[in-house]
Parts: sequence; structure tokens; C-alpha cells
Amino acid sequence: MKSVKLMDRVFTDFNQPGFEFLTKNLIPGISVYGERLVQYENEEYREWMHSKSKLASGMLRGVRIPVLKPGCHVLYLGASSGTTVSHISDIIGLDGVVFAVEFAPRPTRDLLNLVHSRKNIIPILADVRYPEEYTDIVHGVDFLYADVAQPNQSELFLKNAQGFLKNNGLGYIAIKARSISQKLSSENIFKNEVKFLESKGFDTIKTANISKYHKEHHVYLGRWKGYN
Ligand code: SAM
Repeated sequence: MKSVKLMDRVFTDFNQPGFEFLTKNLIPGISVYGERLVQYENEEYREWMHSKSKLASGMLRGVRIPVLKPGCHVLYLGASSGTTVSHISDIIGLDGVVFAVEFAPRPTRDLLNLVHSRKNIIPILADVRYPEEYTDIVHGVDFLYADVAQPNQSELFLKNAQGFLKNNGLGYIAIKARSISQKLSSENIFKNEVKFLESKGFDTIKTANISKYHKEHHVYLGRWKGYN
């Protein structure tokens, strides 16, 4: 493998186009969702498939997250069974923590399996519409990530930023256009969401259309300036 470092603990392998991204495996020997494990110079890496992760898809479109590095504190909304959460867990290492919120019992069961081996994931079975339910558990985070595919996804994201994101922290949201409107074009829906987030305290850093990988999805990365 001829690896190229993209971010802390995230690599790409230009020799094998099948491996767009790789994260250094926090728990060597364990594949989380059937992804391939790769050995290189006494280290093990897990392939990170963009088709299974909107965070990886955004990276493929040039959206890198400078704050996502060892020691980072993350609040993740819509964790599902933990596919993307597991890669964040690799990146932040044991000095970091990812609070993974999910309200559906079925994926939460898989998430709980993940937590047995990965001590930097705190699973929270809760509804992200009611962040007050987890104020006792979550404290100031450096990075807020949302992928909930709900009509009011930007409002939920904002509510959680107001509750938990440190000033100057980064927020990332995967916006599914069709969850918001059946009538407007996905480009227009996304523009409206960006305007809303900017009017409520986010400075836009980068956006990307990832529809090629996840149907009618855009991603947004912004810096949180605090209450507005
Ligand atoms: N981000 C995941 C990944 O990359 O592995 C996939 C997330 S999936 C598209 C959206 C998830 O959000 C679903 O598991 C769904 O149950 C969860 N969700 C939707 N609305 C929610 C809410 N109000 N509170 C908590 N979880 C929610």
C-alpha cells in the first residue's frame, strides 16, 4: 500500500482505487460492518466506503474537517448502527469521545455491540428533537455531525448546536432534499437551508453536492459563532 495521509489517522491509497479512504483501526482485527482490513507496516487500517458514509462522500468532494483529530469531542445525531461513528472513533482515538444519538431501537442494538470494544463511543438512545434529554451526558463538543433525514433537519441541527457546540466549533450536516420538499429542486432546497443556518449563527466553510453517491444529498460544513 502506498498510503497518503489526508487528515490525522485518515489515509488514502492511490495504488488501489477501490480503497478511497482508510482509517487506522482502533481495535485491530475487528471489522465493524464487513469493510476490508488492510495491513501496512505493522499497522491495520479499515476501508471507509463513501457509499456507506456521507462524511466520506463529503471528503471525496473536498470537504475536510480540520477539527476531527485525536482528542476531539463529537456529538453525532442519527448514529444508526454506527458505520460512520466507527470511523470517527478511529480518528479521535481514546482521548476523544463521540456521543452517538439514535432513537430507533433496532440500529441502537448494533451500536451497543460496537461500544463493547470501542470505549470512546457513548451511545444515547434519545430523540434529537429533545436535546434537553441528554444535557446531563453531553458537554461542549468541538464537532457536531447530523444525518437524520428529517423535514426539519436544519432546525434540529441548530438546536443541538445551541445546546452543545463550543463557540468556533464546526458543524456538519448531510441534507436530504426530498425529506424537506417534494416540489423544489434539490439545489434550491439546499440554498434555503444554507441561508437559514447562516442567519442563525453559522459561517459557511464549505458545501458539496454528494448526490452522485447519496441520492439528492448535499453536505454543509460551517463554523458556529454562538447564539444569534
Ligand atoms: N449517519 C449514519 C451513518 O452514516 O452510518 C446513517 C444515518 S441514517 C440516514 C438516519 C438515522 O437517523 C436513522 O437511523 C434514524 O433512526 C435516525 N433518526 C432520525 N430522526 C431521529 C431523531 N429525531 N432522533 C434520533 N435519531 C433519529
